Amino acid sequence: MLRTHTCNQLRLEHEGHEVTLAGWVNRRRDHGGLIFIDLRDRWGLTQIVFDPDLNAETHELASTLRNEYVIQVIGRVRPRPQGQKNPALGTGDIEVEGQTLKILNKAKTPPFDVNKETVVDEGLRLRYRYLDLRRQRLKSNIMLRHDVVRYIRNFLADEGFVEIETPILFKTTPEGARDYLVPSRVHPGRFYALPQSPQQLKQLIMVAGYDRYFQIARCFRDEDQRGDRQPEFTQLDLEMSFVDRDDVMGLIERLMIGIVENNTGRQILYKPFPRLNYREAMERFGRDNPDIRFGLELADISSLAAKSGFKVFSDTVAAGGLVKGLNAKGLGHYSRKQIDELTDFVKEFGAKGLAWLVVETGDGGQGTGASRSSFGKFLSPEETTAIISQLQGEPGDLLLFVADQPAITHESLGRLRVELGQRLRLYDENVLAFCWVIDFPFLVWNAEENRWDPSHHLFTAPMDEDIPLLDTDPGQARGKQYDLVLNGYEIAGGSIRIHQRDLQERVFGLIGLEIEEAKQQFGHMVEAFEYGTPPHGGIAPGIDRIVMLLAGEPNIREVIAFPKSQSAADLMAGAPTTVTEQQLKELHIKLDLE
Ligand code: ASP
Repeated sequence: MLRTHTCNQLRLEHEGHEVTLAGWVNRRRDHGGLIFIDLRDRWGLTQIVFDPDLNAETHELASTLRNEYVIQVIGRVRPRPQGQKNPALGTGDIEVEGQTLKILNKAKTPPFDVNKETVVDEGLRLRYRYLDLRRQRLKSNIMLRHDVVRYIRNFLADEGFVEIETPILFKTTPEGARDYLVPSRVHPGRFYALPQSPQQLKQLIMVAGYDRYFQIARCFRDEDQRGDRQPEFTQLDLEMSFVDRDDVMGLIERLMIGIVENNTGRQILYKPFPRLNYREAMERFGRDNPDIRFGLELADISSLAAKSGFKVFSDTVAAGGLVKGLNAKGLGHYSRKQIDELTDFVKEFGAKGLAWLVVETGDGGQGTGASRSSFGKFLSPEETTAIISQLQGEPGDLLLFVADQPAITHESLGRLRVELGQRLRLYDENVLAFCWVIDFPFLVWNAEENRWDPSHHLFTAPMDEDIPLLDTDPGQARGKQYDLVLNGYEIAGGSIRIHQRDLQERVFGLIGLEIEEAKQQFGHMVEAFEYGTPPHGGIAPGIDRIVMLLAGEPNIREVIAFPKSQSAADLMAGAPTTVTEQQLKELHIKLDLE
C-alpha cells in the first residue's frame, strides 16, 4: 500500500506514530515559513505541516504544490498547537509533520473549485464529472446511495429474497414509454429493445418458482427529459409469490422505514404510512402523488357555485366541471401583479383562469364591503359569505379558485397547492411524509384511440369484486395497484398481477389488443402462464428518486455518478456520437437524416 492510513483516520492516540498518507492537495497555505497542506482523500482531510527547519528540501518541494496534485507524505503525527484545533474535522486535533514528500502526479488547474461548494454551471460539472465527484456534495450523495443500496440488499436477503439478473438486450416491455432499440448484426433488420423495466422477466421468475426475487435494475425509457427524468435510471425491482396487496405494501413499508432510520437523520412524519384511495387523493390534494407534509387541502365549492350568479362558475358545473378552491392563509396582501403570476402559473396546467377573493374584515365576510374579489360583483353577500366560510377564510386570507373540467381543476389547483406550500413554508424540510395511494381506476379511457388503456400496465389485476364491471362498466373497475408517495413524489409503483390466462386475455381484449398481436408481443408470457403460474405481485421503488429525497437534492442528476444532461447527452464522453460507415453497414442500416 502507498499509505498506512486514510485522511480521516489519525487521532490524538496516534501521537508520535510515523505514518504515510496519500491523496490530493485540497489547499495550500504558506504561513511565516511553514507550509500547510490539507490533504484530501474520499475519507476526509488531514493537515500536513512542512517546516523548513525539519527538512529544507521537502519544504522547498512543498512550495511547488498546487491544488489537486496527487502526493504521498511520510511524517510523524503530533497534536495541533493550542488554539489551532478544528473541531469540525475528524482529524482536527492533530497534524502530520511532513518529513518526506513525493509528488505522485501533477494536476492542471481544475475548471472549477473542487475544495469549495461554489455554484458551478451544471454543463461544466457534467463535462468534468470526475472532478465534480471529488466535491463534498456529490461525494456524500454517492455514499448515501451506496448505504441505501447496501441496506436494501441486506434487508431483502434476510427476508429470503434472491437477487437475479435479467437481460439488458431484450424485447419491448409494456411500461408505456418509447423503447431504446439496439439493432442486431446477426439478425439483419431485427432489433432488441432495452428493458423499460424487468416486468415480464420478474413475472417469469415467479412462474419459475423463485417466490421472492429482487434486483437493483437499470431501466431505459426514451422519454422527453422533463424535470427529474433520465433515459436510464435504477429501480429496486421486486416480485413475490403467494401474496396479496398488504404483503407487498407491508414489506416495502418496513424496508423504507429501515432505510430512513438506519441511514439518515430524517424524521418520518406518519407511521404506519397513511393509505389514501385514488379518489380521496384527487379530491383532497388534486393529485395522485399528494404531498401530505402540509394541509392546504382543496375545497369543493361546486354546489355553491352551481347556484351562484357568476356564470363562469355555474356554467362550469352545468357542463360537468368542478369548482374548487384553496385558502392561501395570510396572503391577502398579495398585489394584483402577484395574483396575476399565480394565474399564469395555473394556466400552465390548462386552467383558463384563477378567480380570487381577499377576506378583509373580521366579521366572516359579512356584507359586500368585506372582501375584494375578482368575481364578487356577481355574487350576493350571502353567496360570498358561504364561500368564505366553506374555505374557512379569515381576515387576511387569499382564496383562490379554478373552475374547469375535473382533470384540469385538480391538476392546476394541485400544482398551485404545492407551490403555495413552498412559498408559505408550510412544512419542515427535514420531515419525510410517506403515503400509499391505492384503488386506482383499472383502466383509463384513451379518447384519441377510442379504447381503454391500462392505468398501470397490462399485467395488473383488477380488484376481484370489480371483475364483473369489466363487462358492464369498465371505467368503474379498480385495479390491484399501489403507489408509494414521498413528499409529493411517486417513489414506487406496483401491483398484484393477473395470473390466469383467461383474465389476461379479457384484459388484452378490453385494451383493443388482438389476441394474435398480443401473442406476438407477449406470446412467451401467455404461454408461460399455462404452465402453473402462482398468484404473484410486486413493486419497483425508484432508487434515484428515493436517494434524491433523502439527500434533500432537487434533481436525480445529483445522486447519479454519471447522469445525462437535460437533452439526454453524456457531456463528458460526448455520447451519443456518430458511428462509422462500416459499423452501419454491418448493422444493415442506412441513415435518412432529411
Ligand atoms: N414494472 C413496474 C414499473 O416499472 C413496477 C411493477 O409493477 O412492479 O413501474
